[in-house]
Amino acid sequence: MRTLPILLALAVCVVPAAAQDRVVDTHVHLHNGEASIREYEAQLKAAGRSVSVFGAMWFGGPNQALAGNPGQIRANNDAMIALAAKHKGMLAIATVHPYDGDGAIAEVERVALRGVKLLKIHPHTQKFDAADPRVLALVRRAGEVGLIVLMDNASIVPADNEKLFNLALQAPKTRFIFAHMGGLQFRFWNILALARTAENLFADNVYFDISATVLLAADSPIEAEFVWTIRNVGVDKVLLASDFPQISLPATLTAFEKLDLTDAERVKIRGGNARKLLGLD
Ligand SMILES: [Zn+2]
Repeated sequence: MRTLPILLALAVCVVPAAAQDRVVDTHVHLHNGEASIREYEAQLKAAGRSVSVFGAMWFGGPNQALAGNPGQIRANNDAMIALAAKHKGMLAIATVHPYDGDGAIAEVERVALRGVKLLKIHPHTQKFDAADPRVLALVRRAGEVGLIVLMDNASIVPADNEKLFNLALQAPKTRFIFAHMGGLQFRFWNILALARTAENLFADNVYFDISATVLLAADSPIEAEFVWTIRNVGVDKVLLASDFPQISLPATLTAFEKLDLTDAERVKIRGGNARKLLGLD
């Protein structure tokens, strides 16, 4: 007669822990639409891994999202929204080009109304300057309509970290995810630990994905510094992500598991932080 209460008690303990542990990948490129999803899932299956939610964008690699083609950008954003609607676990990530000005802002407003939560813009591949006032106007509006702005931060453009830091300071109501956490210039972001001590400076509106960079950091001479950076930017602000197809999610998870983090930290970074940020629970 005592079995049932014990089983119930176990269920209460076990289910939330398992739910917390589910992987969220906020950085996937679908170069070939649905065929790319099949490839992404096949890689996971072959490695005995799984993902609960992944955020996917249409551009990157061979697919450009340059200025002057707002109609093409809109059509591709709609295709992502349609794909996400029929594919369980997929979140559509939209894009615009900041230099399309009012057109870009109108598209941000439109995709937000269609339920999109993430907007990705990429200074290097889209050939814009993150310090341009049109970028600031765009990210402010994106924040107002509830979009989280994902930006490339691989430090492959000059002063990438500095420009993104100042953009985040100027748009305190917008939440950002800086992809790759500065690449091999990740050390810069330890400044956030000090920015938090400056009165009325930093709104704590910056998250990071550690896609790609985690592969270089794991089991390397810079691993301890990388973990130190994760803790200084805030373990609650760090998200696991793959940057598929350039890097697979299984390879990312394998590298991530080598980092000298606590189990509680791993659970947050693997999916808990993203679930909170994206309102998935
Ligand atoms: Zn990417």
